[in-house]
Amino acid sequence: MAIKVGIPRALLYYRFYPLWKTFFTELGAEVIVSEPTTQEIFKKGLKKFVGDTCLPIKMVFGHVITLADKVDYLFIPRLVSIERDTCLCPHFAGLPDVLCAIMPDLPPILDIHFNVRKKGATMKSIYEAGKRFNKNPFKVYRAYQKAQREYEKFLKRIKDGITPQEAIKIFDGEEVSPPEKKKGGLNIALIGNPYTVYDSFSSLDIIQRLRKLGARIYTSEMIPDEIIEEKVRTLSKKIYWSFGKETVGSAFHFLDSPEIDGLIYIISFECGPDSLLKEIVDDKARKNKRVAYMSLVIDEHTGETGMDTRLDAFIEMIKRRRAKK
Ligand code: SF4
Repeated sequence: MAIKVGIPRALLYYRFYPLWKTFFTELGAEVIVSEPTTQEIFKKGLKKFVGDTCLPIKMVFGHVITLADKVDYLFIPRLVSIERDTCLCPHFAGLPDVLCAIMPDLPPILDIHFNVRKKGATMKSIYEAGKRFNKNPFKVYRAYQKAQREYEKFLKRIKDGITPQEAIKIFDGEEVSPPEKKKGGLNIALIGNPYTVYDSFSSLDIIQRLRKLGARIYTSEMIPDEIIEEKVRTLSKKIYWSFGKETVGSAFHFLDSPEIDGLIYIISFECGPDSLLKEIVDDKARKNKRVAYMSLVIDEHTGETGMDTRLDAFIEMIKRRRAKK
C-alpha cells in the first residue's frame, strides 16, 4: 500500500501544489489534500490554537487536524526562502515546531528545510524530502524534474489569464471554463498574499463575487517576473519579503496599466509585512487618479454583507468614473 502524504490546503498550497503533488506521486506516494476551508475546519483549528496570529496561520491548524488520522506523513516544509533575494515571513520557518508543540500526537511531519538563498541547499532539501520514499538519488532527481515540468505548465496557465485556483483544478483533471470576456466589463486587479486571496473562506470568495458584478480578474501571478523586478527597483529601499515584493511590484504595474479599472489589496489582519507594504501601495495609489483603489483588511470576523457592500460601492464608483469620461 502506498504511503500517504497529507498536504494542508493552506499557505503555499496555492503556489506549489502541482510541484509537490507530482514529486511525491512520482516517488510512489499517495497525496491527500485537506478539503477547502470551511467554518467547521477553521473552528477545529482555533480550539487548539493559543495566542494571536494572522488568519492564514490559524487556518493551517484546522487543515492539519482534518488530515491527521488519514495520512502517514504531513508535508509542512520549513520554508525560509523561495527565491534568491527575498525571504518568507518567519511564520513559515517556525510552523512545523509550533504544530508539534501544540499537537504532539500528529503523524510525523516532513519538515524539510528550504532555503534557496543558500548555495546547493535546494537539491539537498529535495533529496531529504524524497529519500523516505526512494533512497535512490537519481530517482528522486527524476521525480523532481517531472514535478518542475508540471509546475511550469501550471505557471503558464496562470500567465495565460486564469487564477491559481483554476490552474490547480486543471492540474487535477477538472474541467474549467475560461472566464467570460464581457464587452465593456470592468478589469479588476487583486493583490495580496496568495493564501489569503485564493482561499475562498479567508477572502469570502472575492473572485466569484467580483465576477458576478461583471468584473474580469487580474492577479499578481499573471505578471511576468521581470516586470515585478523592474517596478520594485523604482523604490528607494529593497523589499525583503517574497510575497511583499510581488504585491508591491504588481500593484505598481496594475496602477500603470491602461486596461485596469480598479485595484483591490487584500490584507490579513495582524499581518506585519502587509501593514508596512500597505503604506507603499496606498501612497502610489493616491498619486494615481485613473485606477480606483481600495484595501480590504480581513479576519475571521469579516462578514459577507460588509464585503458585498464594499464591493458594490467600489464597482459603482468605477462605473460612474467611466460614465463621466
Ligand atoms: S506574511 Fe502575513 S499573512 Fe503571511 S504568514 Fe506572515 S504574518 Fe501571516
